[in-house]
Amino acid sequence: MLLKDQIALVTGGSRGIGRGIVLALAREGAKVTFVYHSNADAANALAQEVAAAGGTAKGVQADVADPAAAQTVVDGVLAEHGRLDILVNNAGVIRDKLFLKMEADDWNAVINTNLTGTFAFCKAVAQQMAFKQRSGRIVNVSSIAAEHVNKGQANYAASKGAVNSFTRVLAAELAARNVLVNAVAPGFIATDMSQAVRNLAGEDNLKKIIPVRRLGTPDDIANVVLFLCGPAAAYVTGQVITVDGGLSLGAV
Ligand code: NAD
Repeated sequence: MLLKDQIALVTGGSRGIGRGIVLALAREGAKVTFVYHSNADAANALAQEVAAAGGTAKGVQADVADPAAAQTVVDGVLAEHGRLDILVNNAGVIRDKLFLKMEADDWNAVINTNLTGTFAFCKAVAQQMAFKQRSGRIVNVSSIAAEHVNKGQANYAASKGAVNSFTRVLAAELAARNVLVNAVAPGFIATDMSQAVRNLAGEDNLKKIIPVRRLGTPDDIANVVLFLCGPAAAYVTGQVITVDGGLSLGAV
C-alpha cells in the first residue's frame, strides 16, 4: 500500500471524480475524510463501500464556499487523527452562460466554490503541514478549461486559471517545508458535471476530438492524484498535470 495510515481529506468526495479519488486513496491505505455538500445517502454508501473493501472513509457535510467551513472540517480531522498528510481540493461547480447573460451570482458561485474554497482549505491545513509536520501533499483539481477556451465558461475558466496560478505560488512558498502542491487538469470526464455538454455535443462527436478516442473516467484522474500523493512524486511540486487523453493537443 502506497499510503498506509496516511490521513487524507478530499472535498466534493461523494460523487464523480472526488468519489474516484476517495476510493483510490483508501485502497492504498489512507484514512480518508471526504466533504460532501448535500447527498448524505451517497456519502454513506461510499463510506460503506470503502469499509467493505477493508478501508477507512468518512463523510462530513460542508459547503466549501462557506468561509468558515474549511477550518471547521480541518479541525475535525486533526481532532480525530492528530495529523493531515494529504489534501485534495476537488469540489467544483459550473454555471455556464455566455458572458452577456452571466450575472454576478453566476460569477460568485463559481469563484467562491472553485477558487476561494480551494484557498480556504489550503489555508486551513498550511500551518499544520508546514510547521507542525513539515510534510504534506496538496492536489488541486483544475481543468483544461483554464487554458483552452470554451465559450460560456468565463467564470469557470477564470476560477481554474486562478487555481493553476495559486498552485504554483503556494508550491514555491511551501516547498522548503516539505509541503508539495500540484494540480491535475482533467479533460472531458464522464461525470454528472459533463453530462449536459455530452448530451449537447453527442458522445461520439466528443470521442472524435479526443486523440485516445474515449472520455475520461474518475479513475483516470484518481490515478494521477494517487501518484502526486505518493512516494514516486517526492520531487514534483508546482505542476499542473493535464489528464485529457490528448484533447488539449488540438490535433486535427
Ligand atoms: P461533479 O459535479 O460530479 O462533482 C462535483 C462535486 O463537488 C460534487 O460532489 C459536489 O457535491 C461537490 N461540490 C460542489 N460544490 C460544493 C460546495 N460548495 N461544497 C462542497 N462540495 C461541493 O463533478 P466532477 O466532474 O466530479 O468534478 C470534480 C472536479 O473536477 C471539479 O473541480 C471540476 O471542476 C473538475 N473537472 C471536471 C471535469 C469533467 O469533465 N467532469 C473536467 C475538468 C475538471
